[in-house]
Amino acid sequence: MACPLCEQAARAGRGKHPWLIAELAESFALLGDNQGPRGWCVLVLKEHAEHVADLTADRQARLWDDVRHTAAAQRAVFGPVRINYECLGNLVPHVHWHLIPRHADDPQPRDPVWLWPRERQAGSMKDEDRRALVSSLRGALGR
Ligand SMILES: [Zn+2]
Repeated sequence: MACPLCEQAARAGRGKHPWLIAELAESFALLGDNQGPRGWCVLVLKEHAEHVADLTADRQARLWDDVRHTAAAQRAVFGPVRINYECLGNLVPHVHWHLIPRHADDPQPRDPVWLWPRERQAGSMKDEDRRALVSSLRGALGR
């Protein structure tokens, strides 16, 4: 499969994605590979579409519901200072949202995380801590 997010969505759909938080109406909520900012989530549209505008208005509304429910879960779990909502598609043109909690100990609070050094974005979270986060966020989503 050529699109890496189609591949991730397929794994999530089979229940084989290790960092699946929940299947939502239009997307799979995943704990992101990068955990520099703790709780960074990525919502991946269930099937390939390059542009949000290619979705019907109803689907766009349901996708936004996915975004706001996930953000509410992040707020419940972490109480972040803010959440950055980013739907870019510059590197992988498959509709996905980055929901990036920005915490009180944020080392560069004025910058988008894309300006952080690569290793700071990635963080050094252990798998057991990642699993605990997935579980907490899933619980906060009511799943
Ligand atoms: Zn795709």
